[in-house]
Amino acid sequence: MNKKFRVFATCDIGEAIELLRKRGYEVEVYPQPEAPQKKLIVEKVKSGIDGLITTLRDPIDAEVFDAGKGTLKVVAQYAVGFDNINRADANRYKIPFTNTADVLTEATAEFAFFMMGTLARRMWSAEHLTRENRWGFWHPYLPFLGDEVTGKSVAVIGTGRIGLAFIKKCVGFDMNVLCYDPAYENHAFVKGIQEINDLRHARGLTKQKAWIKYVGFEVALQGADFVSVHVPLLRQGESATPTYHLFNEQTLRLMKATAFLVNTSRGPVIDEAALARALRESWIAGAALDVYENEPLPKDSPLRDPAIEDRCRLMPHFASAARITRLSTDPEKGMAGRCVQGLIDVLEGNYGGDATKMPYVVNKEAFGR
Ligand code: NAD
Repeated sequence: MNKKFRVFATCDIGEAIELLRKRGYEVEVYPQPEAPQKKLIVEKVKSGIDGLITTLRDPIDAEVFDAGKGTLKVVAQYAVGFDNINRADANRYKIPFTNTADVLTEATAEFAFFMMGTLARRMWSAEHLTRENRWGFWHPYLPFLGDEVTGKSVAVIGTGRIGLAFIKKCVGFDMNVLCYDPAYENHAFVKGIQEINDLRHARGLTKQKAWIKYVGFEVALQGADFVSVHVPLLRQGESATPTYHLFNEQTLRLMKATAFLVNTSRGPVIDEAALARALRESWIAGAALDVYENEPLPKDSPLRDPAIEDRCRLMPHFASAARITRLSTDPEKGMAGRCVQGLIDVLEGNYGGDATKMPYVVNKEAFGR
């Protein structure tokens, strides 16, 4: 029989909660769909819970860890990004935190790919024509045209899990790929993709042989018809190559006037005021966003400007929002399953109780000898 662990979840992650209860855990779930106030999280932690299930909207820092001194054993984050958790504070208090990497990789990558196509082919504007009874005729170029994706060049900024999965989707559309990642260049992956491109060409499946290569940031932006962003949010001081406002007035101006920007990473990676200007003044052709500097997107955001509506797609942080990805209790398939497995590993002392060996613990550096 397990010790009766007490857990507070800041959001309902579905059936996986029952999985914990069946193991004898006492689990309280915050019942509202909106995020709880931070002071409630602190209060719950202070009450002596063993585990805290969080997600990207919950600020977790020294105040929370301090409230759990001597009692809180794990923070299990339901997301792959963990910019809401202060890693240095977690390390100081020696609290392991877990994330749900991998299981949302394909869902997020395909959503980015679909956003790219939706934007370039102007599907939103086209459907509006139909729905608003403004579809009066078939014409070679009126009332507007979109741009093809097939055979174009795409810059992939950040070639981690999601960036690489995105590239795999681009292969089927005969796209050339400019990769950029200052921390790690995966040349084995690039070689594999080039071999597939070569084979597709050799077998007569493509007219042009597609290519893929690593380049510098500026070269990637200058050469691409599409730019898709797949980096973590890293603020000044958190990395030698921070990503906060990586896309700003200066870097947006490097892109072609015909190019499109797609962001499914984190909102603050793009300076939204600069992007709104880039769209209004046509420095670039369009942008499709899933994430924002402030979420939900404020009513007065410049991105809502009707003047740029036809070239600015705005999704509600939805890239991982697919049924199996979000809710499967199988830790190999779903964020919910992986989140509770991360929690169980720490609380039940799996892997000999060694956090450095637990696959879903992020801040392993705090537990090495
Ligand atoms: P990952 O850690 O596997 O990959 C991130 C890559 O970015 C790494 O290879 C890293 O070296 C690289 N990188 C770091 N700094 C960089 C810089 N300055 N320029 C270019 N590359 C840089 O992470 P992942 O699993 O691929 O996820 C990426 C991010 O996507 C997450 O951190 C999360 O914020 C976001 N995300 C969003 C959604 C959504 O619903 N919209 C879903 C999943 C993930």
